[in-house]
Amino acid sequence: MATHEVDLSIIGAGPAGLYAAYYAGFRGLKVALLDSLPEPGGQVAALYPEKLIFDVAGFPAVKGQELIERCVEQAAPYDPVYILNQRAEDLEPHDDGSFTIRTHRGTEVHTKAVVITGGIGTFTPRPLPDAEEFEGRGLVYFVRELETMRDQDVLIVGGGDSACDWALNLEGIAKSITLIHRRDRFRAHEDSVEKLYASSVRVMTFTEVSRILGEDGVERVEVFDNRSDERETLTISKVVAALGFKSDLGPLKSWDVEIDGRHILVDTTMQTNIPGVFAAGDITEYEGKVRLISVGFGEAATAVNNAAVHIDPEARVFPGHSSG
Ligand SMILES: Cc1cc2nc3c(=O)[nH]c(=O)nc-3n(C[C@H](O)[C@H](O)[C@H](O)COP(=O)(O)OP(=O)(O)OC[C@H]3O[C@@H](n4cnc5c(N)ncnc54)[C@H](O)[C@@H]3O)c2cc1C
Repeated sequence: MATHEVDLSIIGAGPAGLYAAYYAGFRGLKVALLDSLPEPGGQVAALYPEKLIFDVAGFPAVKGQELIERCVEQAAPYDPVYILNQRAEDLEPHDDGSFTIRTHRGTEVHTKAVVITGGIGTFTPRPLPDAEEFEGRGLVYFVRELETMRDQDVLIVGGGDSACDWALNLEGIAKSITLIHRRDRFRAHEDSVEKLYASSVRVMTFTEVSRILGEDGVERVEVFDNRSDERETLTISKVVAALGFKSDLGPLKSWDVEIDGRHILVDTTMQTNIPGVFAAGDITEYEGKVRLISVGFGEAATAVNNAAVHIDPEARVFPGHSSG
């Protein structure tokens, strides 16, 4: 059984957790960074690595994966211990104010403080009904690399941001792109929807998949108009089901931190109701909360600086400037 002794444990290696790891290193703390996914990056790396992000300070436009690589690079000089592919299951508090975290694989981390950056929890995509046999044989739930769609006839199913973004990003790469959505109202940014209708993507509203056809993988998809039941068979080699995802806080719900719905309540220092346990990023809740990467970065800095004082009461909250 692997054991680690650290000053600070960060639960979740999404953008908030990665920035917390940088900041903790800057404050001289030894860090363990845990994630249930096999790669760092949270929602950004798992759900939209190829999407351009426009609202992170200092980057007029940056692809999700590049932003994550920069965050990993920024934390790297401080050598955080990555404990990936492991879900943090238990948090055991000790009388001296420290904690033991256990993962589902039995790894133990002894830590003086904790920052929970668990985002929306562990997440899994909503499946396309009755299409399991085509998973990995032309049916995917995420487009991790746009190049996998080169010269393909792509069908995108869904009406949210991911569906619209993938449709737009695949222009010029895919041979043809059709997007079907079961309503005529999209859950995506207006700007993306406008761009979608102005693009070469064939948009079919009030349309759903009735069945996928193919011997060795996806070859055709029968779709139907859910008002008239009129059917059409499309020549398709790749289906991207962008139907959203289910998320679950899972074990974090049993950690005695105060939870409101699916979020953890924090004070202005980002501390939870448990002294020494802080939170940052999408998972936090307080009046006026905005769930954005840039907000998560700010909260991570606040959480870590206050955790540093919890670990060493002589330390100052304000760390000084990094520019030295
Ligand atoms: C399609 C889409 C587009 C978006 N576009 C933008 C945008 O343009 N700009 C913007 O600012 N925001 C955008 N967002 C939101 C942004 O991605 C989130 O605000 C951001 O990812 C939150 O970061 P985080 O680090 O708090 O959490 P997450 O990215 O959710 O990372 C949390 C991590 O914690 C891990 N975890 C959870 N529970 C455990 C556990 N018990 N043990 C171990 N690991 C655990 C998860 O596996 C995950 O990797 C978008 C989101 C989506 C879905």
